[in-house]
Amino acid sequence: MQGTDEIVGRAWRAGAVVPAFNVPYLPMVEPVIRAVADLDSFALVETARLEWLKFEAGGPAAVMAEFLKWNDAAHVRIHLDHVPVVDEDGQRVDYLPIIKEAIGLGYQSVMVDGSRLNLESNIAATLQVVELAHAAGIPCEAELGAVLGHEAGPLPPYEELFASGKGFTDVEEAVRFVRETGCDWLSVAVGNVHGAISGALRDRKKITARLNLAHLDRLRQATSVPLVLHGGSGVEREAMLAAVQRGIAKVNVGTEIRQAYERTLKESGSVASAQDAVYERTSWLIRDYFGVAGTRELLSV
Ligand SMILES: [Zn+2]
Repeated sequence: MQGTDEIVGRAWRAGAVVPAFNVPYLPMVEPVIRAVADLDSFALVETARLEWLKFEAGGPAAVMAEFLKWNDAAHVRIHLDHVPVVDEDGQRVDYLPIIKEAIGLGYQSVMVDGSRLNLESNIAATLQVVELAHAAGIPCEAELGAVLGHEAGPLPPYEELFASGKGFTDVEEAVRFVRETGCDWLSVAVGNVHGAISGALRDRKKITARLNLAHLDRLRQATSVPLVLHGGSGVEREAMLAAVQRGIAKVNVGTEIRQAYERTLKESGSVASAQDAVYERTSWLIRDYFGVAGTRELLSV
């Protein structure tokens, strides 16, 4: 079986993308995998710490158990998304045991998020996790720059944020970060934002984020690893496709399919209907948004 590093690397070199779907509710796993397989595409199923703390993902073991019920190795892999060193509420997290647990469970790639630390501390924390992941033969994703949106309360005015470039991944820092940590994939901030997860904000329509493609180009040219875009929901399609041509090889998608699930469950009271909504939305994303239907052969065979 091919490693996730090979698959994402292949997407990166081909100017293609591997979507990574977050599953804050366990019943989302089945329709996501079914949509990916039906469209003969390739994607990751992923879970982040906040999805078992603030939603109903259960934990790394629960997500793995659900994944194994539906796993289809020709089309999907499982990834551990954000395990922060300092979380969205500003609290220190005992992150290593969580990552070790996931590796022990058989997660096929992991992420450590030290982006709320200073550069030196982020490098140190990431290096530890890279060593653990590589010892287990799997790739490690890290984050540099501020991808906002998970914090409580509203975002600062988006256009101001975008125009100022505040929080964008610094090019020189990125070069040093990749060299010193040996991380396999780098999550960057170029105007992308996470969907809100706190209080009533989590149900609202996400803002349309823009991407600074010139900045992304500089990051691609300066670093030599596949780049990752978090906050994939609500980015205009043209900007997304242009980003994929500029080194983005993995895109995290959370809000789009979470809200489809929650909205349908609320309206219908039926988990099966909510799963159908996730299937439809995931299919739309693969086929009509990312345009990656039929890429299984390109990426994994
Ligand atoms: Zn993220």
